[in-house]
Amino acid sequence: MGLTCYLDLKAAVWDRGTCSGCGACAAVCPADAIRIEEGAATPANIGYCKAETDSVPCGACYDACPRVGPARSPGIGEAVARVSARAAFEIPGRQSGGAVTAVLEHALRADLVDAVVTVSEDRWTHKPVSTLVTDAETLVTTAGSRYNWWVPLLSALKVAVVERKYRRVAVVGVPCVVQAIARMRASENDLLVPYANAIRLVFGLFCTESFDYDRLMEGKLRGEHGVEPWQVRRLDVKGKLEVQLADGNALELPMKELEDCIRPGCATCTDFAAAAADISAGAVGAASGCTTLLVRTAVGKGFVDAAVAAGRLEVCGDVDMGAVERLAARKAARGG
Ligand SMILES: Cc1cc2nc3c(=O)[nH]c(=O)nc-3n(C[C@H](O)[C@H](O)[C@H](O)COP(=O)(O)OP(=O)(O)OC[C@H]3O[C@@H](n4cnc5c(N)ncnc54)[C@H](O)[C@@H]3O)c2cc1C
Ligand code: SF4
Ligand code: SF4
Repeated sequence: MGLTCYLDLKAAVWDRGTCSGCGACAAVCPADAIRIEEGAATPANIGYCKAETDSVPCGACYDACPRVGPARSPGIGEAVARVSARAAFEIPGRQSGGAVTAVLEHALRADLVDAVVTVSEDRWTHKPVSTLVTDAETLVTTAGSRYNWWVPLLSALKVAVVERKYRRVAVVGVPCVVQAIARMRASENDLLVPYANAIRLVFGLFCTESFDYDRLMEGKLRGEHGVEPWQVRRLDVKGKLEVQLADGNALELPMKELEDCIRPGCATCTDFAAAAADISAGAVGAASGCTTLLVRTAVGKGFVDAAVAAGRLEVCGDVDMGAVERLAARKAARGG
């Protein structure tokens, strides 16, 4: 355990505007002294810190943060397999081919994991919620991408590891979340070891940027386009933001118009393909109706092979890696 405390994290990340909002610091703080309030760009200390107040060695928040240190692009990372894949069963809310849900649904059904830490949303407001899912049926209802948030994405991780004491947890996250878990796994901080030991599988989602909930849903959609959150059926980003409405109409917003909605911490992010995940998933590069899967580790391969063998996941073709590389290079050039 180190002698660093939240003040070091504040100086290195919060005050420099590089916080991604991943929520790792809040999740691992043993004193529950870090919160991210709704609408806030960074976390804040809420009074007590055992390292600062009582000089008890801690530093968990600092050691888990993916934004400590210089931003370096990891490229698209290694993979033992690159496939287009889709769910072999109906998933109404799936974002791409439903492959992420299919692999995790099978993992829960076959008792390969105890729980999945993921991000669901309120169906009326589309506000994202950090969620712990323990049954396959519920997991299917969480399918789909949340592009806009204010939540600390990893807050459900503390519930999984500390409260419920699960020892085989799968986590789904955008690259900043995946990097936070990689930091936990590599750390020698005793306070992070229980998290590292409990995380069995890390599923990374490709990510170019994410949006601030208030600026996108309240400011842009409601304020400028008269669209209420409950009228939105689905959001998708394909070079532009596609907003499908419940009445069957759609709205298309060019990314240029959305620059002021992007979360500030995304500006320095250089990881597109979640290079440190066990499996990475995205829309780009996939065969029609499928998800691109970059299977990176033996653990990841085990979960994918098990879902295919059980008939829950279908491999439907190769991946256009050139398309993936182009988006990754564009993001790496923008950040840093
Ligand atoms: C913010 C964001 C930006 C993205 N940008 C790109 C991009 O630029 N290019 C690209 O090719 N792909 C991008 N993706 C990934 C893409 O949208 C799909 O998630 C991916 O193709 C997997 O599709 P699927 O149908 O297999 O997933 P599904 O079967 O629909 O499952 C998705 C899973 O991800 C979880 N989830 C949703 N949102 C989040 C979130 N914010 N954090 C953690 N978990 C979440 C869901 O709960 C569900 O478990 C992005 C995703 C997000 C969340
Ligand atoms: S990037 Fe994540 S861990 Fe670092 S300060 Fe922000 S929320 Fe906390
Ligand atoms: S671009 Fe994506 S991975 Fe990077 S900080 Fe933003 S949300 Fe996280």
